[in-house]
Amino acid sequence: MRLLKGVRLASGEVTDITIEAGKIARIGKSKESGLDCSGLIALPGFVDLHTHLRQPGFEASETVLSGSRSGVAGGYTALFAMANSDPVADNASVVEQVMTLGQEAGLLEVRPIGAVTKGLGGEELSALGLMASSAAKVRVFSDDGHCVHDPLVMLRALTYVKGLGGVVAQHAQEPRLTEGSQMNAGALSTELGLKGWPAVAEESIIARDALLAEQVGARLHICHLTTAGAVDVVRWAKARGIQITAEVTPHHLMLTEDLVRTYDPVFKVNPPLRTREDTLALREALIDGTIDIIGTDHAPHSSEKKDCEWDQAAFGMVGLEHAASVAQEVLIESGASDWERFTEVLSSKPAQIGSLGDQGSLKEGQEANITLVDPAASREIQAETLSLSRNNPFAGLTLKGQVVHTLFRGKFSFRDGKVKNA
Ligand SMILES: [Zn+2]
Ligand SMILES: [Zn+2]
Repeated sequence: MRLLKGVRLASGEVTDITIEAGKIARIGKSKESGLDCSGLIALPGFVDLHTHLRQPGFEASETVLSGSRSGVAGGYTALFAMANSDPVADNASVVEQVMTLGQEAGLLEVRPIGAVTKGLGGEELSALGLMASSAAKVRVFSDDGHCVHDPLVMLRALTYVKGLGGVVAQHAQEPRLTEGSQMNAGALSTELGLKGWPAVAEESIIARDALLAEQVGARLHICHLTTAGAVDVVRWAKARGIQITAEVTPHHLMLTEDLVRTYDPVFKVNPPLRTREDTLALREALIDGTIDIIGTDHAPHSSEKKDCEWDQAAFGMVGLEHAASVAQEVLIESGASDWERFTEVLSSKPAQIGSLGDQGSLKEGQEANITLVDPAASREIQAETLSLSRNNPFAGLTLKGQVVHTLFRGKFSFRDGKVKNA
């Protein structure tokens, strides 16, 4: 038995949590003694629907183990691993390999995402049914990194995945409108002489796919929204009754295109950092529920791929260890929302979209996946995290909130700021 004493729940209630056999046995005051958790908020373990774990194929940037370590330090108990590995996770054997690597790491649940198309080529559907019926039980399918741009392929994918009870997660980027693009399109891209990435390249795909999802009655998830117009499109689609969910990254909530002036490739990301107005629209949409979740799009890159000229550098940023602080900044410190909404965007909604069932809420009888956060702690972010990569755009910022402990199935995966070596 394990006892967490004096925790504050998202509702504000101060109580104790008793854990037995990996499950939450009781939420309520206990006379026994246990771990003093006063001052800490107990939240359901965080779930990231959008992580690049880079294994197999790019182990210099990240492995399932190193990404899991970074994940538990960020308060996560489940990560969905994107399919753009090498080989691509477009068949049962690769998704089962990723699942097994996750079990061996043993720190959190690793759920593989299956590629929508073979080799992320955008032309031929991959073995969706075999991945769904494999031991990895894939329910989220995405070509992330690439857009499923052919409308007929997208229509077929939505239809097929609906039959599997899953969801297609679209990386909304019209390829012809973004050929060679390096940053947000606008006055600044003109000034800096970098090829622009227009907002309409994102918004037009979201609008098209919302209508395709409506046509077949399928669920659609949009990865990493970045523009005010994309928020408008999702708001419209939801009002129309379309089964659409949307995600925003920590970096698009906090950082703007002005950072590109530094020409530091740490700020190069796909989709690009946008304007202040876009950031404000994304924040408002996260608060009002138009955007459902925060997905990190944790995209580690080795220094070889980042320590070079802007136009040669790879797109992507790490994010697992800062997402909770960013959520706290946007929802709590701003005074705009509360810890219950925080729980929705980091735990319950991503669990629901990813078909993780009951995970993402704290209830008696459920697996004890619990994250304990000290909301009063303030820290200066270092470039170095537990990721193998250092492409950390938050380095140097001071953020509030610190994950102190993470429990996965009743055991500490992260305790007093240290990863438990499984
Ligand atoms: Zn993407
Ligand atoms: Zn991604």
